[in-house]
Formats: sequence, C-alpha cells, structure tokens
Amino acid sequence: MHLIDTHCHVDLYPDYKKIIAEAERLQIETIAVTTTPSVYSRCVELTKASRLVHPAIGLHPELVANRHRELSVFVDLIHETRFVGEVGLDYCTKDEEERRLQRCVFGHILEVCARSGDKILTIHSRRAAAEVVAMIGPSFPGTAILHWFTGSAATARDALSYGLYFSVNPTMPASARGRELLRLLPRDRVLTETDGPFVIINGVPARPPDVYTVLERLADCWGISIKDAAVVVSRNYCRAMNAVSSS
Ligand code: MN
Repeated sequence: MHLIDTHCHVDLYPDYKKIIAEAERLQIETIAVTTTPSVYSRCVELTKASRLVHPAIGLHPELVANRHRELSVFVDLIHETRFVGEVGLDYCTKDEEERRLQRCVFGHILEVCARSGDKILTIHSRRAAAEVVAMIGPSFPGTAILHWFTGSAATARDALSYGLYFSVNPTMPASARGRELLRLLPRDRVLTETDGPFVIINGVPARPPDVYTVLERLADCWGISIKDAAVVVSRNYCRAMNAVSSS
C-alpha cells in the first residue's frame, strides 16, 4: 500500500531519524513542511538520504509577525524545491496589523510560486479560509493543498471550483464539521496528512504511518476498501505532483 503524508513537521520530532527511516521502510511519500525559511536548509540536511521525504520551504503565518524579514531568504531558496509549506494565514490573532502583514507575506509567496508554475503548496487557513481561498484564486499555476481545512461549506465549494486539493488528518473525521467536509469533497481532491507532531493520537504525536487511520475513515465514508482508498489518494498525489502550468 502506497501511503501519502502531505503535511508533517519532520524536523520537529526529537527522533526525526526514526521518522525518516520509518517513512522509507513503509514507503510513505512525506512532505516535510517547515515553519521558517532559515530552518529549511537544516531540513534538507536531515532528509538528504531519503527518497520519499521531501523538504518544503515555509513561513508559518503564526511566525510572520516576528519572522517576516525572512521572506527574502524564502525568495532566495525557492528555486531549490517544488515543495512549499507551511504557508498561509492564521486569523486567531485579532491584531489587524499582524493580519495585514500575513496577507502581504502570503501574497508575495503566492506570486513567487506562480512564476515557476510547478510548486506544490501546503497551506494553513485557520479562521481565514475564505480569505486564503480568495487569495489563491481560480487560476493559480501550480498545486495548492488546503491543510486541515475548517472553513465553511461555501468556501470549500469555491476552493473545489478553483481546483484546490484538501489534505485530511486523523483528527478531522472526529468532528462533525470534519465529517461534513469529507461528505462534500469529491474523491479526486482528497489527500492525507498527519500534521505531526502537532496532532496527538492516543496521547502520542502522530507519525506518517498514522495516515492509515485517515484512510480507514475515507474508506468508510466512500464505501470502499482501505486498499482502494489508498489507491485513490495515491493517484491524487501523483496527479497533484504532475500538475504543471502550461503558460
Ligand atoms: Mn502544520
């Protein structure tokens, strides 16, 4: 079974070597997101012997207030990888100036990514889903994956009409809103993620193999076997990887 984890903070596990070795052993394609461009280079070092763990360059919206100056590092390094994340907006802050700064940084990141046309972005949108989807827009050249989406059904529909993907983690099917989202999403737009080590399962941080529990829920929701659900998600990942702008 070919497993996919499109959002895992590999560099934040104390035993990251084990996480990487496990992903290799179990053949789990893993996007190793980072929270600032300055730690991206370290993540590249950690994962350089791995075929399946892909370092992504990110600038987490919750860190933008303190780290927005690292945007220049992001721009300098972006040519090194197709994988971008974690980026996006987080409106847990009520500070309008901070929100403005987040939009400014995310807008710039989208612009830089659009120029190359083949980037794969894993995007945070807590309490800012409508704004994030509007900023990505209907014709973004590249692949945009909404990670841990908690926006409204109307925003999800907009995102679907724009061709965006959704990555589902093990905690999402546990909430009513998460289950509603699963029912609404066409199978060909669903990917799996763990968001480990932030997501906790049974008291321990999630690891890439925990995408299996997401597949169980997807299989249940779709009325197919877990193996077939894995094939659907793996196909979606391949399609997302091969989406390259024609312009
Ligand atoms: Mn995350």
